[in-house]
This record gives sequence, structure tokens and C-alpha cells, in this order.
Amino acid sequence: MSETANDPELTQGRARKALGQHFLFDPDILRRTALAAGPVEGRTVIEVGPGPGGLTRALLKEGAGKLIAVEADPRFAEGLEAWPEAAQGRLHVHLGDARKVDWPSLIATADGEAPAMIIANLPYNVGTPLAVDWLKAGDWRGEMALMFQKEVAERLAAEPGSNHYGRLAVLAHAVCDVHIAFTLPPGAFRPPPKVDSAVAVLRPLPAEKRFEDLDALEKVAAAAFGQRRKMLRASLKALAKTKGLDAIQWLESCDIDPTARAETLTQAEFRKLAGAFAAA
Ligand code: SAM
Repeated sequence: MSETANDPELTQGRARKALGQHFLFDPDILRRTALAAGPVEGRTVIEVGPGPGGLTRALLKEGAGKLIAVEADPRFAEGLEAWPEAAQGRLHVHLGDARKVDWPSLIATADGEAPAMIIANLPYNVGTPLAVDWLKAGDWRGEMALMFQKEVAERLAAEPGSNHYGRLAVLAHAVCDVHIAFTLPPGAFRPPPKVDSAVAVLRPLPAEKRFEDLDALEKVAAAAFGQRRKMLRASLKALAKTKGLDAIQWLESCDIDPTARAETLTQAEFRKLAGAFAAA
């Protein structure tokens, strides 16, 4: 474990709320997180928010070939740069805001023989936008194991008909298989967050099963779920207009009942709607 791991200044007293700092120190939990998406041996792994380095250490111990860590807090980035793995070129530390990283380029340069994996205990405040960035990162095809507040993990993994089903699930299932590996109570972290956490595992679908036009899919899903209690013919009306479409005709051309609601639509139906929208 890193030297900072047991430093109460960093792990409790000065944990920065704004940076979503809730740290893991239990070796068993860290190992399970590191391996949640499968073996990391020989793989390139990108970790956002290494903090004091508990997960970083577990990933290196499990044999990650190269680890690229992006950390916004200079106290932690400096600590990690002093690790022997950094001097040996196995650990690369980037100080900066993960939201400002050019992910398609970083992922492209990170890929080794197999595509880079992304494994992280994410800061709560930027977890959702980062996951969306990664889903949209074009050529990215590696597995991800991402720890979020449990509700976000549930929204990523949700199936039609569930309360959590929405834009995030539609986007994620367009390019990945998603499942929740395990959940953790607040007491597993220092300092404890207010809510439960969970690790979502996202495995890229084979090319022939993916739907690549995530921009169109996102527009359709955002409009449909933006007014989730309304019938689709109403919730999609304004979006249809932007392309000169009539919402009812658009829905019927995709064999979808215009009086249905977003939460009942399958992934295949969202894909049909997005395909027709993009083609209009
Ligand atoms: N990986 C460590 C662990 O599991 O103990 C720390 C996880 S903690 C939930 C989130 C980490 O992300 C913190 O170290 C925080 O400083 C860092 N962080 C927060 N916002 C960030 C951002 N926008 N870009 C990069 N790192 C960020």
C-alpha cells in the first residue's frame, strides 16, 4: 500500500469533498475491483482518480502491464510519481481534470496488443459525464469496471420497464453488455460517502452487435425520457420537428405505438428510431 494510504491528513482531515474523495483501503475490496472486468495481466489500464493509490497498487500487483493514472489533486499525483513503478515506466501519472482529457487520443495511444481497460473508483460528481465520454469515445473497445454511487451503476445496467431505465442505459447497451459486479456500503470508504456504491462492468459488444450512432441515439433517448410520463408522440414531437418529421409517422414507420412511453421501449426500438432520425 502507498505511504499516503494511512495518512489521516490526506484520507480524512483533508479529503476534498469537491473532488469526491472517498478512499478504499481494504485489500480484498481493492482486488475485487481491480479484477471485476477480468484479468488485467499484461493489459494497459487507465485509472481516473487514483488518490492515495489503493486501487493503483492492486492493479499493479495483479500484473497490469502499463497503468495510466489521471488525478486532479496534485498531492496525490506527486505521491504516485515517486513510486518505483513510475521510474520504471510502468506507471504514468497525468495531473489534471479527467473531464478535459482528449479521451479518443489517450485511449488510442494507450492501446497495447489488446485495447486499454478503464478501471476506477470514480469521483461521484464527474462519474456520469466521464462514463458517457467513454461510451462515445469512438474506437474505444476495452472493458471497463467503474465504481459509482449505486444509483448511477443501476442506471447504466437498467433494462426496459425498470425505474432506472433511461438515457444512460440506452447509450451503454448500444455498445456494451453491462452488469453490476458488487455493491459496497458507505462504511467501506474513508471518509464514508452518504450513499451505497457499486461497480458496473461494461464489456464491449462485438462489432456486428453495436449501434455506432450514439449522437442520434442520445438525442432520441434524451427527448423520450425528458418527459418520461408522456406518450412518445408528445415527448418526441419537438425533436421530430428539427428534422421536418411528424412524430406519429416517424414512430409508426419504426413499428412503434405512438401512445407507448419511453420506459417500455427496447434497445432495438431505440436503435430503429435513432436510425430513422439520422437518415431523415
Ligand atoms: N482510487 C482511489 C480509491 O479508490 O481509494 C480514490 C477514489 S476517490 C472516490 C476519487 C479520486 O478522483 C480522488 O483521488 C480525486 O482527487 C480524484 N478526482 C476528482 N475529480 C477528478 C477529476 N475531475 N479528474 C481527475 N481526478 C479527479
